[in-house]
Amino acid sequence: MLDERLMISHVLTRRTTRFIFALKAALAPTKPRVGALTQEEMFSYKQKKLRLLCEEFGYDPSLVILSDAPYSFNYLNQNFTSEGQAYPDGRIEIYFDPDMTDARMACCLAHELQHQKYFLVRTAYQAESIHGPLHQRFAPFTSETLASLGGVSDYSREHWQAWQGRSLPVLFSDELADGQCEPINETLAEIAKAEYNWGSIAWIDSIWRQLYLAINNEYRRLTLQKRAPL
Ligand SMILES: [Zn+2]
Repeated sequence: MLDERLMISHVLTRRTTRFIFALKAALAPTKPRVGALTQEEMFSYKQKKLRLLCEEFGYDPSLVILSDAPYSFNYLNQNFTSEGQAYPDGRIEIYFDPDMTDARMACCLAHELQHQKYFLVRTAYQAESIHGPLHQRFAPFTSETLASLGGVSDYSREHWQAWQGRSLPVLFSDELADGQCEPINETLAEIAKAEYNWGSIAWIDSIWRQLYLAINNEYRRLTLQKRAPL
């Protein structure tokens, strides 16, 4: 019966095969059998794990997908592979890597979720007047201050080094459009990853920590506001 199913799956379209993977995922055990998983079984297991992590983080799992497309991009003639991607509309893609441990996937999700928090606060910031409360709240975090501190990890430091803008990166600006990379946004995402990984960010400079906490507080306030009945 199993062999027959395997033979059939070989001639099915990719789409149908994916449906079978999804079906297997629904039936899969919560823990993989050590050393005995096929690529498809591992994909299903990671899908399930990702859904559970979303619930743990309190983020809508329908917005987070595990993609089996390898994501790599060329930058300054070097080929980089990305582990995940956050989109300003709330969607997150995590790129499947069979060697990615559950812990690394959780760190990756923590990083991408921080981008979502940043995007939401940025939208509210950009929507208000320059005398609005968010402008006042974030005024102390000037470009000069943040640039003098730089990144908090190799990855975020690379973003500060790769900055192509004519002036320093500005908080809540479109860094990608201005400088081909996102030093501020990526540094904050790396702080979230560090916090998840180590359980503490006491070693990070206090200005970065203050900015990180201020964004997370505003994010909480804005999401509660959104859920409140009209
Ligand atoms: Zn990032």
